Amino acid sequence: MLKFLKKLFGEPPSSSGNTHLRKAGLRHNEEHFQQLVAGVRDYAIFLLDAQGNVRTWNAGAERIKGYRPEEIIGQHFSRFYTGDSASSGWPNHELSVAAATGRFEDEGWRVRKDGRKFWANVVITALRDADGELTGYLKITRDLTDRRQGEEKLRLSEERFRLLVEGVTDYAIFMLDPEVRIVTWNAGAQRLKGYAADEIVGQHFSRFYPAEAVARGWPAEELRRAASEGRVEDEGWRVRKDGTKFWANVVITALRDENGALLGFAKLTRDLTERRRAEESARRLLQEEAARKAAQELAQQIEQQREQLHVTLASIGDAVIVADAAGTITFLNPVAAKLTGWELEEAAGQPLAQVFRIINEKSRVTAENPVSRVFREGTVVGLANHTALLSRGGREIPIEDTAAPIRGADGIIAGAVLVFRDVTEARRAIDARLRLAAIVESSDDAIIGASLDGRVTSWNRGAERLYGYTAGEIVAKPLSLLAVPGRADELPAIMQRIKSGEYIDHYETERVRKDGSRIEVSLTISPIKDSYGEIVGASKIARDITARKEEERRKDEFLALLSHELRNPLAPLRNGLQIMRLAGEDREAAEQSRAIMERQLQHLVRLVDDLLDVSRISRGKLQLRKERISLAAVVGHALEVCGQTTKDQDRRLTVKLPDEPIYLDADKTRLAQALCNLLNNAVKYSDRGAAISLSVERDGNQAVIRVKDAGIGIPAAMLPRVFDMFTQVDRSLEKSQGGLGVGLSIVKRLVEMHGGAVEAHSAGHGMGSEFVIRLPVVPAAQDRRAEAGGQQGRGAARRRILVVDDNIDAAGTLEMMLKFMGNEVRTAHDGLEGLEAAAAFAPEAILMDIGMPELNGYEACRRMRQEPWGKNIVIVALTGWGQDEDKRRSREAGFNGHLVKPVEPAAIEKLLASLEPERV
Ligand code: ADP
Repeated sequence: MLKFLKKLFGEPPSSSGNTHLRKAGLRHNEEHFQQLVAGVRDYAIFLLDAQGNVRTWNAGAERIKGYRPEEIIGQHFSRFYTGDSASSGWPNHELSVAAATGRFEDEGWRVRKDGRKFWANVVITALRDADGELTGYLKITRDLTDRRQGEEKLRLSEERFRLLVEGVTDYAIFMLDPEVRIVTWNAGAQRLKGYAADEIVGQHFSRFYPAEAVARGWPAEELRRAASEGRVEDEGWRVRKDGTKFWANVVITALRDENGALLGFAKLTRDLTERRRAEESARRLLQEEAARKAAQELAQQIEQQREQLHVTLASIGDAVIVADAAGTITFLNPVAAKLTGWELEEAAGQPLAQVFRIINEKSRVTAENPVSRVFREGTVVGLANHTALLSRGGREIPIEDTAAPIRGADGIIAGAVLVFRDVTEARRAIDARLRLAAIVESSDDAIIGASLDGRVTSWNRGAERLYGYTAGEIVAKPLSLLAVPGRADELPAIMQRIKSGEYIDHYETERVRKDGSRIEVSLTISPIKDSYGEIVGASKIARDITARKEEERRKDEFLALLSHELRNPLAPLRNGLQIMRLAGEDREAAEQSRAIMERQLQHLVRLVDDLLDVSRISRGKLQLRKERISLAAVVGHALEVCGQTTKDQDRRLTVKLPDEPIYLDADKTRLAQALCNLLNNAVKYSDRGAAISLSVERDGNQAVIRVKDAGIGIPAAMLPRVFDMFTQVDRSLEKSQGGLGVGLSIVKRLVEMHGGAVEAHSAGHGMGSEFVIRLPVVPAAQDRRAEAGGQQGRGAARRRILVVDDNIDAAGTLEMMLKFMGNEVRTAHDGLEGLEAAAAFAPEAILMDIGMPELNGYEACRRMRQEPWGKNIVIVALTGWGQDEDKRRSREAGFNGHLVKPVEPAAIEKLLASLEPERV
């Protein structure tokens, strides 16, 4: 202000100089001054004369003090002072100080015109003239009321604040300078942090932070944030002088001057340790309270649950044992008590293994307790199959069980619960069901389940075999798939009966297979009932009776055939008897009918024999009487036996035998019977006169016998079946050849009983047939022994023999047989021819029929004996007549022997053997 005034007025004039001028200058200056200050409104600027009267008055004075210039000019300035100070002479004191020192400055209360006080800054400057004479004073008054009030307020508040800050003990309040050294330190800081002000002022503030916070630069970070954001608040651990920590709430405020330059920081720290502790304990209390409540509720719930559980476990059908973590039993329900034999009271506290003793049913080894596994693995475990519980009483009970861990709230296994059940019944049921299923599955019969609406629900393998459908193809499909077209209503009718609870036994009907073929089945159908007794479906057992039906048909046919075949020979027999009765002395007629009857009887005998054989074969009662024998002998015997047939008809049979003999271990009669059956068939099934051949050859260690004809042949389809019993290619009676359809089956059986096999071959209808028998032969080494043993055979004795018989077949077969025995043979077919042949051939023996055309046997024999070459020949009669009379007559005629037809080869062998000595 003064500077301003000096500038305004220039330097005060020096005391030296022209007074006038100075006076004039002063006046001039005063005027100038007045002009200048007149408009100043912020300052009261006025001049006082040397006595203190107001001489000038500017706008500011008027504004501040309230007087208009005319009111105040000439008045003493003391009126601006309060009564007290005015009366104490303060105004004059001011003037005298100013006069003495040149200047007086004061602040104090002044009074306005209206009596209101205002706080004024007063500067009084003494004004002197050039001679140094006091001319007056310049007074400049500033109204500082506002400032004063502000300052006062500030002072008061600062004081209060300081006192407050200082006296505050709950908060550490201190200042930091821009270098963050501590500048101030209050009582709270001392109390909180333990440092006295003189210990800490000037120190870096970071020492209050834990080393860890310092290490991560947290103090600096807090300051950075405070500086950038003006304020930062934080809670964290701080360190006291003694090293203990406390939980602090810290507010740091950046302090800046009006230009924004950082002056430092104010830091306010509160110790929240207690609060925190209190909070924590309050929280804990709350938590504890809540936990306690929860625990109570839980306890109640648990108690309730325990009760429920107890009741549940006690009434549950399964056995339950509960064990604690040590494997000690804490609970056992009544079922468990019953199975183990331990009551709860006894079992509680026992180790589980003591009460729950288990073994592997198969290995009998003690099985691992599932609870041990639960403890080890911490999961639910099931027992391996085939585990049995050993009860206290030693009973062994198959069981099935599971064990599960019981976990505490902390997840730690606190025990285990073991649940098991007696599976004896269940297993029995399963076994029964499995057995049943296996039976159903393995059954040859078709076993089918069906729903009431006629759909297939189950289908066994037998059904698949029978009908051709697999289970997959037919299950869920309607059963009507199997119905014969046109008989579709049969199934619904059956189902209707089933629904009404009926049981249908052996209902025979026809069904269609998958491939469209038909089969005859016998059905047994029963209702399936569920456990409530309600009929829910049907079970059908179907049996294929096609074969049985076929069998029945064949049996019926066979019986018809049998009665026909048996009756057939009866007519000629009855006729024959009639003729013989009527014939009287007519020997010829009697002989004829006798021959017929003999044949028919033989036929009947054969039929009966065949039937007996078939029955023996089918009962396994047929016995062989085996001996070492040459196949030639067998063939010879066969030829002899069936010679009758071949003789009856005009056949040409060729027999081919191997050069080397073949030996067999065989029943000569039975094997010959087999050959004979084949020969008979060859005759029966081919035309008169058609060639038939029998050949024998050796193929390795097999003898191969072929019987071949040029007859009607056998259709290929029948070839595999001709050996079946009662099988005939053509069953019509009109075409019957007098057989029962059992001959070939007897052949097959007999050959097989000899370790051989028989096959039929035919190129088809009208192409003839060939039957081939293969038989094992006796090895060569054994042949010789057989020969050495004196068995008859080729080369045993070679003789020249003449056969005379008018029956070509009979002569032929005998010739074959004799040749086969190793002899040289000639044949003749009547008496005259016999005479000629005997003369030419000179045989050692003659086998001669009696009844012959031209020259009968008696006559021929008589004539031979009359010839020179005929005296020593052995002549044997072969005849159907075996009466003593007949024998006497042949002896008279010159015969050496008399053999009755059919002649057994053995008889011929015996006869020939008897010739031996004569030859030697
Ligand atoms: P059967 O008493 O009918 O002759 P077999 O068992 O001996 O009975 O023969 C069975 C069927 O085999 C005969 O009915 C016939 O149809 C056929 N058969 C057997 N042998 C011959 C053959 N040599 N030629 C043609 N068919 C034959």
